[in-house]
Amino acid sequence: KTFKDLGLKEQLVEACESMGWKTPSKIQIEAIPHALQGNDLIGLAQTGSGKTGAFALPILDALLDANQAFFACVLSPTRELAIQISEQFQALGSIIGVKSTVLVGGIDMMQQSIALAKRPHIVVATPGRLIDHLSNTKGFSLRTLKYLVLDEADRLLNEEFEESIDNILKAIPRERKTYLFSATMTKKVRKLQRACLRNPVKIEA
Ligand code: AMP
Repeated sequence: KTFKDLGLKEQLVEACESMGWKTPSKIQIEAIPHALQGNDLIGLAQTGSGKTGAFALPILDALLDANQAFFACVLSPTRELAIQISEQFQALGSIIGVKSTVLVGGIDMMQQSIALAKRPHIVVATPGRLIDHLSNTKGFSLRTLKYLVLDEADRLLNEEFEESIDNILKAIPRERKTYLFSATMTKKVRKLQRACLRNPVKIEA
């Protein structure tokens, strides 16, 4: 299969080529057509499987039609992963002028607030810092959000993050698409799935 076969818009097929991605990975082949049809996704996948592309490409495909700020939010358990995800969004979306920003701890809040004032399309965040900005950064909200991604959900569900995740879910619209990716399917992940996803399609890397 090719990226074109998956139903992606021509600009994104070109973006994959420019990344040097010759063929879609297994998780991308399984995820992208369902995502483009508007389904929620629950994906069992590890880092290295191409899962970032699996959720980023359908979001960018929808963004091409909508061209809207604060369109998607990706929650990540770590700063390093958040930075990598944002870089993939930026690399895949550069041809179409996508702006992505990272909200993680250990970096000046003010600098991140300035980035938010530029109204990025994509926000990639760790839960605690996202909550800090939702409470403190004037003019920033996720009320227009269309896509939520819970990446490495098993790791998002530690004690440190659980309360933040609850509060984030209260701050975003119910009318949205949700993609949950996890390396393992634990009880807590299943509980989060029931709380956040609607008739998800299950896929595996
Ligand atoms: P991920 O599992 O999303 O962290 O991706 C792992 C690495 O695989 C990243 O460096 C991606 O740029 C790369 N990658 C993702 N999809 C593909 C693909 N279809 N072909 C080749 N490399 C890919």
